[in-house]
Amino acid sequence: MLSRRHLLALAPAAATGLFLSRADRPVSGLVAELAAQTPPAGPFSLPPLPYAVDALEPHVDAQTMTIHHDRHHQGYVTNLNAAVANRPDLRTRTLEDLIANLDRLPDDVRTAIRNNGGGHLNHSWFWTSMKKGGGRPPSAELGRAIDAGFGSLAQLQERLAVAAVGVFGSGWAWLSVDATGALVVETTPNQDNPLTRGHRPVLGIDVWEHAYYLKYQNRRRDYVDAFFNVVDWDIVQERWQATRT
Ligand code: MN
Repeated sequence: MLSRRHLLALAPAAATGLFLSRADRPVSGLVAELAAQTPPAGPFSLPPLPYAVDALEPHVDAQTMTIHHDRHHQGYVTNLNAAVANRPDLRTRTLEDLIANLDRLPDDVRTAIRNNGGGHLNHSWFWTSMKKGGGRPPSAELGRAIDAGFGSLAQLQERLAVAAVGVFGSGWAWLSVDATGALVVETTPNQDNPLTRGHRPVLGIDVWEHAYYLKYQNRRRDYVDAFFNVVDWDIVQERWQATRT
């Protein structure tokens, strides 16, 4: 607990001037100021990882998993909540609804929701797209659709890997269902989601450097190839089935 005495003691050493500027205020005023900076608690929240942080080792390392989930994903949630804090009309809508209808959002919050709502949605799906002992081929029905669209699962994975490596800067590679019901490989920049273009994503690969740099450095292709060892094709199958009803 910071006391006024502590703040005054810190003040001479504070290089930034931050403490100096606060130390001459009453502590009660400082507490109120800090409380005002506390981000809103909802309506969106960080979903817990569906496995231990080291469950996907060695393909996804525990340190990357921890930072990626606890800091990056939490950041998107925090900023999204801030964006809708004073918008009761938006706070009650689902995340998918907001992202699918970005063009109809108010101008002053559209970019924040695009970036942070997209970040929240993309990562929420990303965690559940992986599991320990993943990588087993999809069920027969999805398998046939993949064979019909891409030749084989191996060829689909190659298409996804090439797409992922080809994303310039930060973004995602996706397996999606397009407006005609066909499976397609596509990419989006930043935290954009295929929902915004009327597609239904069933698998996304995060190719932001924060997703792989600690373990793979610049070797994005190695990270993507490792990702295929932990894909939960059962979940992908469920999402794909849901697009067909
Ligand atoms: Mn990410």
